[in-house]
Amino acid sequence: MTLQGKVAIVTGGSRGIGKEIVLTLAQAGAAVVINYNRETAAAAEVLKKIEEIGGRGLLVQADVTVYAECEKMVKAALDHFGRIDILVNNAGVRRDNLLALMREEDWDLVIDTNLKGMFNCCKAILKPLLKQKSGGRIINISSIAGLTGNSGQANYAAAKGGVIAFTKSLAKELGKRAITVNAIAPGFIETEMTETLPDAVKERVLSHISLERYGKPEEIAEVVLFLAQGAAYITGAVISVDGGLAL
Ligand code: NAP
Repeated sequence: MTLQGKVAIVTGGSRGIGKEIVLTLAQAGAAVVINYNRETAAAAEVLKKIEEIGGRGLLVQADVTVYAECEKMVKAALDHFGRIDILVNNAGVRRDNLLALMREEDWDLVIDTNLKGMFNCCKAILKPLLKQKSGGRIINISSIAGLTGNSGQANYAAAKGGVIAFTKSLAKELGKRAITVNAIAPGFIETEMTETLPDAVKERVLSHISLERYGKPEEIAEVVLFLAQGAAYITGAVISVDGGLAL
């Protein structure tokens, strides 16, 4: 129970990678705020699972694209648990298309969710985190698309590349406060986000993965746990968890 007494906020905690991050942090003893946008029933299931293992959780519906909603989420976390130690910016969407066919609204949604959402949540927790004077952990979920680019994902890759540059900048700002800021760059992880991709795309990706299999959400969650529970001298890093896909 290395995270006993700690409080974490996980955005997009209702499904996929976020759900596994919530369960892993709760298993390690953290009280976890499970943020979601639309899927109330799925988020409620995650809370039920936490309670079954004797953990503490709180559901907070908030659209991360809206700053005021992120502020309300942080207030709810403080009212309920009294402190915040860890923020995992995981909420994300994809709206893939070649640039010639990409609609402006798909550019805006992806940038607003994957990049501005992270800005909104970081900014909203900053005052309480600094006031606590006990350090902290910010973990941002990027993507290998943010490192390598990807045809058909100009919006997604731009947002995820932005996540990496933001992470490094914030690590420089917050180092003196013992708050580490790191990014994880997953490769192809089996979730609802990837299950709708055409088979041809999935097969092409698989042929480039050194470990010859897709990743599992738990394999991202275990790296989040590593960064959340210790790793005090790692900041501004981007950790690829991709089975060798980016190679
Ligand atoms: P997913 O299964 O589609 O789940 C996305 C999560 O984000 C859901 O919990 C969803 O909540 C939440 N969300 C979406 N828009 C939101 C908003 N405006 N406000 C709050 N929550 C919002 O996706 P995933 O595969 O687990 O991906 C999680 C993260 O990993 C994303 O940032 C994604 O870009 C990144 N990633 C994934 C892969 C992969 O292969 N799967 C690879 C690289 C990076 P609701 O359902 O309630 O709306």
